[in-house]
Amino acid sequence: MADGMSELHDLTVVGLAALLRERKVSATEVAQHFLARIRAHSHLGAFLDVDEEVTLAQARAVDLRLTDKVASDVSSLMGVPVAHKDIFVTRDLISTAGSRMLEAYRSPFDATVVANLGQQGMVTLGKLNCDEFAMGSSNENSAYGQVANPWDVSRTPGGSSGGSAAAVAARLVPAATGTDTGGSIRQPASFCGVTGIKPTYGRASRYGMVAFASSLDQAGVLAQTAHDCALLLSAMCGPDTHRDSTSLDVAAEDFARMLDVAVDGLRIGIPDEFFGPGLAPDVRLCVEEALAEYQKLGARLVPISLPRTELAIPVYYIIAAAEASSNLSRFDGVKFGHRAREYGDLIDMYKKTRAQGFGDEVKRRIMIGTYVLSHGYYDAYYLQAQKIRRMIAEDFQAAFAQCDVIAGPVAPTVAWKLGDKREDPLSNYLADVYTLPASLAGLPGMSLPVGLGSGHMPVGLQLVGNHLQEAKLLGLAHRFQKVTDFHTNKPSGF
Ligand code: GLN
Repeated sequence: MADGMSELHDLTVVGLAALLRERKVSATEVAQHFLARIRAHSHLGAFLDVDEEVTLAQARAVDLRLTDKVASDVSSLMGVPVAHKDIFVTRDLISTAGSRMLEAYRSPFDATVVANLGQQGMVTLGKLNCDEFAMGSSNENSAYGQVANPWDVSRTPGGSSGGSAAAVAARLVPAATGTDTGGSIRQPASFCGVTGIKPTYGRASRYGMVAFASSLDQAGVLAQTAHDCALLLSAMCGPDTHRDSTSLDVAAEDFARMLDVAVDGLRIGIPDEFFGPGLAPDVRLCVEEALAEYQKLGARLVPISLPRTELAIPVYYIIAAAEASSNLSRFDGVKFGHRAREYGDLIDMYKKTRAQGFGDEVKRRIMIGTYVLSHGYYDAYYLQAQKIRRMIAEDFQAAFAQCDVIAGPVAPTVAWKLGDKREDPLSNYLADVYTLPASLAGLPGMSLPVGLGSGHMPVGLQLVGNHLQEAKLLGLAHRFQKVTDFHTNKPSGF
């Protein structure tokens, strides 16, 4: 075993990969180290299914592959552990999507994203807790319990990829997959002080991602650094047009080799609407300091306007609910998942199954979605929302005529206390105001840690790029991480 083994978990993906490549440590040793940490910190509630036999078998297979390879032939992710948001289906581990409906569900196949990372030799440590069907911003909607924020266990890690963000922040895994429909990678990354990116809609295959709102759902990654995110993003993305009709037919780029973006002269658009009275002063301060850092590096801050920012909330919660109500109709107790034990006729079986299988938030969305799609309301709500969605996308294109990237806060506040917004869905929805617009426009967005706000809680900076401009975002974040050390901050006790 290598020296400093106890610090393995502090290494980045890049750092771990180097040790593995040089055979200073085996994939099995790395996996064992992280599995022990997952056991030791199970109180966070970040992991759902963990199967040590499955993980160690994968690690041993990687070690065998490593023995007859010269270091230069080893993929940059070989033997590095990863964990998957439980919204991705996996053959060897249970896939619940955070729902009772899929309790103990085993998929006959792996999601494309999972398969792609596996092909690069990444070793799966387990499945990560998330809001039920990825609906939520606090991870309190999971049927399998809430997740604690490692920075302060009385607070939310954010959601819906709360397990992913908490696990990376607590150094239980060097990188994790997540999904972002309206902010679910960026917001938990911000709340937990890690780096996360959601690519352009269509970059990553949705095949094997349990569907929430299909026109918005997008897979991405959370890790300590932008460099690590770049490595995983390149491996997980790519065309999958036979299995996902919205998959973009563009080859994955080697983002890790594109990190050297020129910041000098770069125009960073600052949307006026992201800095209104709703933004907490501590978050504003961290974000402004980060922007000042970019100015020092030569970037120019350009005031821009995204005039329909606030409209993104009703538009998103109409469209996402509408799509959810349609997607979730498949959970009827017939094909897979939960079925009520006792029932009368077929209709009664549907009713009881769905009443038992879905949690409150999911039921709320199905009801809203069914309502806005129903005859008489479709034109007033759904169609109207679609029109404004288009305008929001056009606002971004107008903004990108004036700037190269857009920057602002990820969320109006730092992570709130668990329970604070549980009884008030609307206040949860409102907190998504800065992440929803980019989602509706299908644009890539990321969050990088830029400081600590009130309660010593992390604050993220959001970067949004035009379509397929992930390399620019990652490069900008990487540049920031070369001259600052916020990304190395970690919660005490981990
Ligand atoms: N908070 C938003 C919602 O509840 C976004 C969730 C997501 O991105 N999956 O729908």
